[in-house]
Amino acid sequence: MALKIWLDDKLVDEADAKISVFDHGLLYGDGVFEGIRVYSSRVFEMEAHIKRLCESAKAIRLEIPMKRDELIKAVEKTVEANGVIDGYIRLVITRGTGSLGLNPFTCENSTIFIIADNIQLYPEELYEKGMKVISATTVRNHPLAIPPQVKSLNYLNNILAKIEALDVNVPEAIMYNHEGYVAEATGDNVFIVKDGVIYTPPVEAGALSGITRGIVIRLAGEAKLKVVEKNLTRFDLYVCDEFFLTGTAAEVIGVVEIDGRIIGDGRPGAYTCLMRKKFFKYAHGKSK
Ligand code: PMP
Repeated sequence: MALKIWLDDKLVDEADAKISVFDHGLLYGDGVFEGIRVYSSRVFEMEAHIKRLCESAKAIRLEIPMKRDELIKAVEKTVEANGVIDGYIRLVITRGTGSLGLNPFTCENSTIFIIADNIQLYPEELYEKGMKVISATTVRNHPLAIPPQVKSLNYLNNILAKIEALDVNVPEAIMYNHEGYVAEATGDNVFIVKDGVIYTPPVEAGALSGITRGIVIRLAGEAKLKVVEKNLTRFDLYVCDEFFLTGTAAEVIGVVEIDGRIIGDGRPGAYTCLMRKKFFKYAHGKSK
């Protein structure tokens, strides 16, 4: 069935959801976006996503032409119009249509579009068995370049690392920052477990401040598990007891091998399974 897409100020048919070839989102990757889940017809962590979107926009001096409440309503209307029960929302704001040339101020109005559709998760088997990853040679964006906390439309940095993974038939790559510390995966945040403590790199290491990451840290704390944010090296990943990734699409997924080193006993470990279960329960129980 054709989707209804929110475009600028209204819902339109998928076939009519078109933007200009002069849109700077397309010409320069000039814009920001969010990927949001819908669980049981409810938009998951809407406030947190809108906050991150607004901060991304502020960092790149992009004005969002809708008020916060209007934005939330537009998202909800799009979900409703498409009858999405369990799905995924892509909320995109571009600099808008302007002239050729970098100058963003030639774009008078930003373009907003919202897609609500089904989601393609990793296959169930990958959750049961865990995934293999590699260390990418592509270094995560330097914080003085595009700040990694900005969820911008320019994902080439991560795409190049993803290509490295796909070239060797693994689904994900771990990216390191310019100092050699673990930053994140190409579309997910990194967690490891060592001697009963859960570790994750601080956002300043070059990660997106993942909404799932934040929830997992909180849920682990509530379960009286020790979580420490600290810089991690490639060695730390090689010798950890457990390894998992978190993200809106992936939720919580175990990693069982990196660069040919087997993690633990080669299966998703107890902490990983516990956090996956806790996250699932939280997402399906409370989705606002
Ligand atoms: N890092 C990157 C680069 C991402 O694109 C994402 C989102 N897919 C994440 C981490 C995870 O963030 P969240 O939990 O908010 O989806």
